[in-house]
Amino acid sequence: MAADAGVTLGVLLGGLAIKYTGVTWIDPLLGLVIVIVIVIVIVYGAWGLLSDSIKLAHDAVPEGINLEEVKEFLENIEGVDNVHDLHIWAMSTTETALTAHLVMPGGYKDQLLYDIREKLHEEYEITHTTLQVEREWSDEQYQPYKNE
Ligand SMILES: [Zn+2]
Repeated sequence: MAADAGVTLGVLLGGLAIKYTGVTWIDPLLGLVIVIVIVIVIVYGAWGLLSDSIKLAHDAVPEGINLEEVKEFLENIEGVDNVHDLHIWAMSTTETALTAHLVMPGGYKDQLLYDIREKLHEEYEITHTTLQVEREWSDEQYQPYKNE
């Protein structure tokens, strides 16, 4: 709306300027200036979305989330000896998912999973959390866990 009004105003002023000065190249110059301004506005407006889309396409950890920080948070939970297979990715430009394996030799209560999920939502805006709890680190692709 503001852009339309701006263009109309520009054309009007251009017309008046030509009428009073007789300089006719004001018209094409004005057209060029308007086009350049419109392109700048569009590129500026679309840049954020484009940037988010590129990151999404590359499965990148979303902006504002530090993977190491989240890993540390999970590792510091009482009863958690190890965190592995931690993945954080954007499901869309507004939704973030997390999956992780937590090694908890002493077991856990379901409430803990809900608490972790809440905390991840509050602190990191992670809205889809999937946790796998393991009594011991038994995944074949990993070295056995040693607590030293
Ligand atoms: Zn595992």
